[in-house]
Amino acid sequence: METIKSTLENSTMVCPACGAKNWVPADEVKDFSVSGESFELKMCNLCHFKRTFPQPLPAEIGRYYASEDYISHSDTKNGLINKLYHAARIYMLKKKHQWVTEAFGKSKGSLLDVGAGTGHFPHYMKLSGWQVAALEPDEKARQIAAEKLHITIDPIEHLEELSADQFDVITLWHVLEHVHDLKGYLERFNRILKPEGVLIIAVPNHTSVDAKRYKTYWAAYDVPRHLWHFSPRAMECLLDQYQFKLTTKIPMHLDAFYVSMLSEKYKGSGFTGTINAFFSGMKTYFSASKNVDQGSSIIYVAKKGSAGE
Ligand SMILES: [Zn+2]
Repeated sequence: METIKSTLENSTMVCPACGAKNWVPADEVKDFSVSGESFELKMCNLCHFKRTFPQPLPAEIGRYYASEDYISHSDTKNGLINKLYHAARIYMLKKKHQWVTEAFGKSKGSLLDVGAGTGHFPHYMKLSGWQVAALEPDEKARQIAAEKLHITIDPIEHLEELSADQFDVITLWHVLEHVHDLKGYLERFNRILKPEGVLIIAVPNHTSVDAKRYKTYWAAYDVPRHLWHFSPRAMECLLDQYQFKLTTKIPMHLDAFYVSMLSEKYKGSGFTGTINAFFSGMKTYFSASKNVDQGSSIIYVAKKGSAGE
């Protein structure tokens, strides 16, 4: 019953980003990493927002998440892959800290990280002197954060309970594409941010150089875990709709290499895949350096604006 209901809701909805009701079939994409099932992508003809169709409901999407790999992976420091993985993680923590302080314009403040996973980013920000709150839906990830990093992460439902005007910065690193209730989240963010607050959202970009190269093999489609697939235009519309003013777009260069590697793996390219992925990453890097809208993933920085602004 639930599947039928979700299919019906999906076919009649307006575009959550721009409000149009003009969906066209875009692609059929396979879930390469967990289920092997195929999903359709539908695209809004106006703002190029794509959505996964059908979208598994919150109650049924759990079976598409296989978090075991990720967690065991991050626990060991042995082997070259894990060393590279840890080096990349530390590099990204520093970069995120830099992006946050530059976006906010001050080196300290109060931060809410939504979708905090095992807590490395909020932990890093706390050590850097920020006042930090974090939310995460996965109970296991919250436990790991508590045991390993001694940081408290609250269930995602606590978002409802946070009071108005209390955060300087809200961050979502590759999270919004997983969220069913975009409207509820964005309305809430606007409420709990201080008047001068900054919203920072990083998401994959399906108009990027690597997305165009890999098409249905592009690893950042990651259906059905990614319910939404953003274009820069769609993100601008979405932010505008909830009274946020987009101020900056920043390309995430490392993602181009990682996503290209994974896409080659899905294509079954073997050894030449590593070389192809390197060139794909470099091509995306150079293109995105000139035009951010070509980047594999984009960080959108937005300020809270008042209605009609
Ligand atoms: Zn649209």
